[in-house]
Amino acid sequence: MEKTVFWIEGDGIGPDVWKAGRPVLDAAVDKAYGGARKLVWKELLAGEKAFKEVGEYLPQATVEALTTAELAFKGPLGTPVGGGFRSLNVTLRQVLDLYACIRPIRYFQGIESPVKRPDLVDMIIFRENTEDVYAGIEYATGTPEAKRLIAFLRDELGAKVDETAGIGIKPITPAGSKRLVRKAIQHAVDHKKPSVTLVHKGNIMKYTEGAFRAFGYEVAAQEFAAQCMTEQDAAAGGTKPIVVKDRIADNMFQVALMRPQDYSVIATTNLNGDYISDALAAQVGGLGLAPGVNMSEKLAFFEPTHGTAPGIAGKDKANPGSLILSGAMLLEHLGWHEAAKLIHDSMDKTISEKKVTVDLADQIPGATTIGCAAFGELLAKNL
Ligand code: NAD
Repeated sequence: MEKTVFWIEGDGIGPDVWKAGRPVLDAAVDKAYGGARKLVWKELLAGEKAFKEVGEYLPQATVEALTTAELAFKGPLGTPVGGGFRSLNVTLRQVLDLYACIRPIRYFQGIESPVKRPDLVDMIIFRENTEDVYAGIEYATGTPEAKRLIAFLRDELGAKVDETAGIGIKPITPAGSKRLVRKAIQHAVDHKKPSVTLVHKGNIMKYTEGAFRAFGYEVAAQEFAAQCMTEQDAAAGGTKPIVVKDRIADNMFQVALMRPQDYSVIATTNLNGDYISDALAAQVGGLGLAPGVNMSEKLAFFEPTHGTAPGIAGKDKANPGSLILSGAMLLEHLGWHEAAKLIHDSMDKTISEKKVTVDLADQIPGATTIGCAAFGELLAKNL
């Protein structure tokens, strides 16, 4: 059986981590299935490489191929801050309607973490990916658009807004919230997870964040009544397998540190999800080992969660682990669990041997630093 994966190399350390990482994925598939299954890689252009070759950062041919694809995988793409073009990552998410950003967070034995019991963290974050303040509706201070909007808010709606304000809009829809929470609960059902936590800031933003919470509970009650119960139901002696609960975002950051064992699947809005993903990855000491996928109803678009790391690009210093673990997620997604398990076991073994890239060596007492390519080779050898 062959599966086609469209891949984008990415900017900065993209070429380094692909070169070290892809052979590990192919070797895992080969070892697990002895040639009976295979990933077929087809490259698409985006980012600086595309600009150099065809004069555009996101060629139409790439968007068209992705529109009909089922599986894709990208390296990091650079974005200039405060000007230049809009983030290619955000554009891709919106054009392809990649509404769910999914990031599993677990601890790898041996890595030094800033918390005492990182081994208690086993969570998976479902972050809404198309709405919220990321929708791109934002106007700079003093622009005609900001002035018009402020005049409307003041004159038509009686809102108090300073006329010099920059303005951003935060759309949260019932459909957008529900499809994300639906996916999170479905994951809990499929993987026998004990709880789904809706993370929101609804005490302050009642009609956006608060609405997300309400829509989430609605999905649980209307579509998963046989599997889900609320915390109140559980306290009253309910016995359904999944507890759907909610936490206000600031409190979530606290409880994720104090009682991580109480949290399993997290479903949240776009900005909260951005923050909490990095915080949790840091909690297990594993920013360099954090994988992810962005999904639409059709396409699963895998990517390492790190950026282009321009300071170490081309220097054989990058950690390919995040890309390789994203590849393991791809294999899980295909149901190729044996190959995915080989990768996880190899990662555990390699880290325990303490020969790792510099970012991990800094967090593992007594570790030897090796390069990006050598780390990839060791991971392949340990499969
Ligand atoms: P970054 O993730 O590139 O780097 C943050 C720090 O982590 C740096 O010290 C870097 O050297 C280190 N680092 C990152 N990945 C590493 C790896 N695999 N191995 C070892 N060390 C690693 O984040 P940034 O500096 O905020 O962003 C740089 C650029 O990347 C920006 O243009 C940003 O927009 C872009 N970015 C892209 C994505 C994406 O494509 N999904 C995600 C985040 C940032």
